[in-house]
Amino acid sequence: MKIKSIESFVLFDKLKESFYFSQWEYTERRICIVKITTDSGHVGWGEGYGPAGIIKAGIQHLAQFIIGMDSLETETIWNTMYRRTLDYARRGILVSAISAIDVALWDLKGKIMQQPVYMLLGGKKRDCVIPYATGLYFTKCNNLDEKLCDEAKAYVGMGFKAMKMKVGLGIERDIELVGKIRETIGNDINLMVDSNHAYNLREAIQLANGIEKYNIGWFEEPISPEFYDQYYELRLKTSIPIAGGECEYLRYGFQTLLSSKSVDIIQPDICSTGGITEAKRIATLATVYGVDLVPHSWGTGIALSAAAHFITNLDIVSGRMNSQICYMEYDRSENGLRDELTHNSIVFENGIIMLGDKPGLGFELNEDALYKYTLKE
Ligand SMILES: [Mg+2]
Repeated sequence: MKIKSIESFVLFDKLKESFYFSQWEYTERRICIVKITTDSGHVGWGEGYGPAGIIKAGIQHLAQFIIGMDSLETETIWNTMYRRTLDYARRGILVSAISAIDVALWDLKGKIMQQPVYMLLGGKKRDCVIPYATGLYFTKCNNLDEKLCDEAKAYVGMGFKAMKMKVGLGIERDIELVGKIRETIGNDINLMVDSNHAYNLREAIQLANGIEKYNIGWFEEPISPEFYDQYYELRLKTSIPIAGGECEYLRYGFQTLLSSKSVDIIQPDICSTGGITEAKRIATLATVYGVDLVPHSWGTGIALSAAAHFITNLDIVSGRMNSQICYMEYDRSENGLRDELTHNSIVFENGIIMLGDKPGLGFELNEDALYKYTLKE
């Protein structure tokens, strides 16, 4: 079961309609995925989150250190990749490259062992995960309010029990839009907001206080991820739970976030924070601090499947007879790569996601879509 080859692909799709959030506009999707093949002919697929071309270069750099290693030794391989890059890349894109390879190795291990990844992680802690719709991005149009309300209504119609909207257009405008979405979806749907660190502390407090009346599930990345102490101060000044962590890497980054008491919910992205191996360690760390974990996920069916398996196994310290909801981020913004690259990765029905017992991450890769979307060099 030795690693025989590691191939990476940059997938590209031009969006039909561009959209934006508080920082910039998206006009395309560009994602790096990786295929690992063993000498036994088994294949595993992984994905990195972040600038695809740089992740591809990172994967090519890492490949030389791990080709020939036993693919089942996921921790040994992880440590090799980490130690070979630690001196010049303690955080950032090279960790995304490590993550992509690690996710592929877990998929591979599941296929070799004929077990779903959640079983290899320690078992199925819940029968289903509850996806929340990530969408409600801004678009350039003259009827944004109406468009967002229609989109929110559509998510309710699809059976979603929760959704997340973007904020970051300015405090008064955000409060107005959040109010309109709450009115549209009613009080039974959980509504979260995400400013993608658009605000300073004073502004974030003002916005949080302005939207508290709309019963907000969490306020994500209110402030720049650099300001751990300010996150803590914000937590003291609002009843809305504060979420963050999609820009953190490795358990060391999360240790800083958690020990600063910065957030109520941590949001590691499995495809950038160090893969499934490291995400499992981060989850353990979260239980030490008694903080909830909802992974960030914004990629293809590979990333979504990795998140779903991880959440299926996720350990939660607090417990009760009516078991606690475990959310999964389920991006609904336009993404042809997500929709076409994998078959049977995620089955969404009646507001829940159920995972089957197929080995590995449980999807089949659509080779036609891989060919169609791979950027030709
Ligand atoms: Mg976010």
